[in-house]
Amino acid sequence: MNYVTCGSCGTNISNNEKFCPSCGAPNPYANTQQNSPNYSYQQSAPPYTYPSSPPQQAVDVPPAPNSLYAPVSVGAFIGVMLLMAVPLVNLIMLFVWAFGSSTKINLKNYARASLILTLIGIVLAILFSLVLGSVISGIFSAMGNGY
Ligand SMILES: [Zn+2]
Repeated sequence: MNYVTCGSCGTNISNNEKFCPSCGAPNPYANTQQNSPNYSYQQSAPPYTYPSSPPQQAVDVPPAPNSLYAPVSVGAFIGVMLLMAVPLVNLIMLFVWAFGSSTKINLKNYARASLILTLIGIVLAILFSLVLGSVISGIFSAMGNGY
């Protein structure tokens, strides 16, 4: 790299400089083959980019503890299961939970599912006893007719 002396201020400047970096005078010895002036002292800073705001996180906000959509706690479920073990009380509680307005959705759905299964079980038990009863009475009537 060749250095020349600025004719205006005497500073050693490079051939590549079109202008004196010290005083700004044009460099008569500038390397004209270079198309773009090389302002090495003028460091072009990269364009400032604003820090992108963090992407909107689609986080499910947990519902308030007293909300109907709040999960039923473990302790509450233990109480529910203990109540379910008590005959008759369990049916009453299932109806209360299934149709109560202040029941948490979790418990309400559980109570409704339980009620549906209980009703299916009752229907099946009635059908079974009817079939069994008719079979037994049929046996007895057959026995009675035979003799
Ligand atoms: Zn100069």
